Amino acid sequence: MSRMLTRSIMIMLIAAFAALPAIAQDAKRSIKKVAGDVYRSQNNFHFSLIVVTSDGVVVVDPINAGASGWLKANLKQVTAKPITHLIYSHSHGDHASGGAVLGAKTVIAHANAPDAIDGVKPTMRFTDTKTLKIGDKTLELTYLGKGHGEDLIAVVVRPENVGFIVDAASPKRLPFRDMPHADVDGWINQIRKIEQLDFKIFAPGHGSIGVKKDATDARIYMEKLRAQVLAGLKAGKNADDLAASVTMDAYKDWQAYGTWRELNVRGMARFLAESGQVK
Ligand SMILES: [Zn+2]
Repeated sequence: MSRMLTRSIMIMLIAAFAALPAIAQDAKRSIKKVAGDVYRSQNNFHFSLIVVTSDGVVVVDPINAGASGWLKANLKQVTAKPITHLIYSHSHGDHASGGAVLGAKTVIAHANAPDAIDGVKPTMRFTDTKTLKIGDKTLELTYLGKGHGEDLIAVVVRPENVGFIVDAASPKRLPFRDMPHADVDGWINQIRKIEQLDFKIFAPGHGSIGVKKDATDARIYMEKLRAQVLAGLKAGKNADDLAASVTMDAYKDWQAYGTWRELNVRGMARFLAESGQVK
């Protein structure tokens, strides 16, 4: 490589790294009410759940250190109470990093979660369900089984009847990209478990607030996608053919349709092939 080319690559790299802090400062952040004493804290495309109880504040998902630091500094917008509990919806790094910043005494995660989640050791674990009475609120935690990850739980808050659901489903929003590493059939079963829960308001870890029926719609999307991709593969089509032909037109108004529809098709084709469902 010529010295000049090396030099220009170096300059480009330096410029790229110099731009990073500016991007971090521009993160879209806010705390907005969901219902009653339940709020969501936004960090760009990710949301934490905030429950203000008479005994202190429960946070579900720290997201990352920047988001947690911002939340801690801005929580006074809604309460003067301290953060007492941190719950992890699951251990994926994009939702579960930076938890130490919150300083919660009680940390709750599913039994399958790692010993430490970005350095934070859960003080309480459960396998199937766990009901927490914290001050004047009740939080019902339910394990959703394996599919999107192996330690994903749902959190339902009463009396507000808010269900906080992360990654398994989002109201009127396509699944993330090509559903990396997912057991898609397990994932569909996770949504079935969500549908069995008793809640009214669907507060997702990504995207807009919805209602419980949005979970059913998300499952039907996955099932239709699965059926069409499987039929195509069995008819001898490849992933490129299917990316063009499986258009899922009924979902054109859902979030991320334009960017993720094709990736969803390719991810489904990969899952069905890798799990041995097509010869
Ligand atoms: Zn995840």
